[in-house]
Amino acid sequence: MIQKIKGTMDILPSETPLWRYIEGVMREEAEKFGYGEIRTPTFENTELFVRGVGDTTDVVQKEMYTFADRDEGRSISLRPEGTASVVRAIIENGKCSDPMPLKYYYIISCFRHEKPQAGRSREFFQFGTEMFGSHSPAADATAISLANSVLLRLGLDNVKLHINSIGCKECRPKYREALVNYFGERSACLCDTCKTRLDKNPLRLLDCKNPECAEIAKGAPKTVDHLCETCKKSFELLRSSLDAMKIDYVVDSSIVRGLDYYTGTVFEFIAEGIGAQSTVCGGGRYDGLVSSLGGPELPGIGFGMGITRIILAMTERGLDKVAVRTPSVYVASLGERAMVKGLEIVERLRRAGRYAECDVVGRSLKAQMKYANKIGAEYTLIIGDSEIDAGVAQLRNMQTGEQSEVSLDSFVI
Ligand code: ATP
Ligand code: MG
Repeated sequence: MIQKIKGTMDILPSETPLWRYIEGVMREEAEKFGYGEIRTPTFENTELFVRGVGDTTDVVQKEMYTFADRDEGRSISLRPEGTASVVRAIIENGKCSDPMPLKYYYIISCFRHEKPQAGRSREFFQFGTEMFGSHSPAADATAISLANSVLLRLGLDNVKLHINSIGCKECRPKYREALVNYFGERSACLCDTCKTRLDKNPLRLLDCKNPECAEIAKGAPKTVDHLCETCKKSFELLRSSLDAMKIDYVVDSSIVRGLDYYTGTVFEFIAEGIGAQSTVCGGGRYDGLVSSLGGPELPGIGFGMGITRIILAMTERGLDKVAVRTPSVYVASLGERAMVKGLEIVERLRRAGRYAECDVVGRSLKAQMKYANKIGAEYTLIIGDSEIDAGVAQLRNMQTGEQSEVSLDSFVI
């Protein structure tokens, strides 16, 4: 028996209606905010993620699915996230000179070789949005508001917004120095990865999942205490915008985000009651990313929302039941001639836009009626040789039991 790969999932027809409902809400909300859908390839040159996500991040160092392309031998990777690909696409398609802002969204699967557990898989699904071309905190507030609107529409009003600012290239060096001093004094207790990161990228130490490192990180200097005037002002303006929009938040200095490209505003939406993997949405500003991937100086702000974690949060609150469409007519048949007639009838009904089914397994009449009941058919039509000869049959309302005569060759319900 060949089994699915560890950390992947099958989503069955009993579950897809919920997925589609959630994805529908995401699309509708994004489009309400003026975001257009973009679709990029599932795999890209590895270099894109090494440069885009950052070579000292866990994602690139430990989690990426990378392999040599068959014929050309170059290194390619399954996308571990969506932003780098969108940035590549806007540069490659000449969108950077379009009127700003550019607003894109996507619903994609991403691939990371992580330890599978509830809310953490190796292929996972993400709703992501990116906005390019605005330095204004109004853009940050808009991105946060979009994520918030999706969560609210899904009924997840218990998800808490945590925001922070991790500064720009002006304030980073000083903050970096403070971090190197702090962690340097405690380097003996750090994990090996963090020891090597201390010089290269000390901000990553704040994001380490190792319990000892996480404990040390709690006492580390805070980014918000090291912001330059511009970053400080932006963060204040974002806070007053969120206040005005009545979007609740807490300022949380532990939010630094796992990818290198973030600058300024970072945020997470955290759900209570779904276990350790409680961040349903994470995002922030990435002002240096477009230029670092070969484009012009173009600021950006976006987020990724994990659909599996949204489902966990909805299930926890009993919000995971969505209406499933049921057939308006089920045609039950007796004998071969009637079976063919049944196919003819459902074909006509489907072409008229109806949801109709007929027997295709040759069940007994009794078993067919039981099945029609099980799938929730509104009406059933029973046909045999005598109905075909007469050209009419009884259409039965499954709720009331009422019957009415209909013409086999023309009825539409
Ligand atoms: P985490 O800290 O939980 O590992 P992250 O910072 O690595 O998250 P992002 O790269 O920002 O996550 O991705 C955005 C969102 O995608 C996350 O907030 C989460 O909801 C979801 N996500 C990330 N990794 C996984 C995964 N392996 N399985 C399921 N969902 C995931
Ligand atoms: Mg992660």
